[in-house]
Amino acid sequence: MQDLLTDIAAAAAANSDKGKVATYIPELAGIDPDQFGIAVATADGGLFTAGAAETPFSIQSVSKVFALALALGRVGDQIWRRVGREPSGLSFDSILLLERENGIPRNPFINAGALVTTDTYLSGSSPREALGELLRFIRAAADDEGIHMNEQVATSEFATGHRNFSLAHYLASHDNMRSDVDKVLGTYCHQCAVEMNCRQLALAGRFLVDTPGMPALVSIERRRRINALMMTCGHYDGSGDFAFRVGMPGKSGVGGGILVISPGRAAIAVWSPGLNRYGNSKLGTEAMELFAHRTGWSVFGVPHAGGAICHASS
Ligand code: GLN
Repeated sequence: MQDLLTDIAAAAAANSDKGKVATYIPELAGIDPDQFGIAVATADGGLFTAGAAETPFSIQSVSKVFALALALGRVGDQIWRRVGREPSGLSFDSILLLERENGIPRNPFINAGALVTTDTYLSGSSPREALGELLRFIRAAADDEGIHMNEQVATSEFATGHRNFSLAHYLASHDNMRSDVDKVLGTYCHQCAVEMNCRQLALAGRFLVDTPGMPALVSIERRRRINALMMTCGHYDGSGDFAFRVGMPGKSGVGGGILVISPGRAAIAVWSPGLNRYGNSKLGTEAMELFAHRTGWSVFGVPHAGGAICHASS
């Protein structure tokens, strides 16, 4: 595993097309795209890293996985009355389907759906309490008290987030916001501004892996369902492509992070800030494709006897 990660980091460093850093959140616009890190936390307690695995980054939409787990813990299946479970086939911040579908977002991983998720775990609490609960969940999952939110990133997004404001008000107009819209948006921007490095994110992702000896933060049924949603919706309109190329559930963020789950085996965190046309990490996606190819890990089939798949096919 260590050799593989070292190879993957070297391939990323040698790749001249790093993708484009997101610029619509001013605080993220100045990040050097020439960075790459990867970490693997295995179910049996192993931890492997390569590249800039200790450099913190803004997890952005990867936070939607933790937020969904928290919201499900609050209201259970009732959340599905307010948000769907289908891929949208549109960009993460699209408003198009909301009008046609009466203010019920397609899934909890696009922005509109994530605003409903945030509203759900915020309900009945102050933003400070709700964000405290979210951080406690993430810290417990990672077993790391050193995980924080970056206030400047949150403020920067809140000040410029016209698209998310539109989505939230549109949801409110359809009676699909329970809390004050500004409070939901403030909480959402802080949730997205959680910072982690690859090592911390891989460790935090173990709650979706089935790790013997670790306290279960969510039930097995819920874990399977979150993984299913990551597979079908975790990369927006690039979800089909990610499933095709990588074959494992993953959730991306516009900060360039991707959390990938190999159920029963490991959580993998990869980060590189340059994005592809879908808004997912370009080098991160390519790294995961190489990782899946070399390990043979896929939820769609087992590798040939002896472990790794040897021949590339496209
Ligand atoms: N905070 C970002 C936004 O709402 C998250 C989007 C993303 O990571 N794709 O626009």
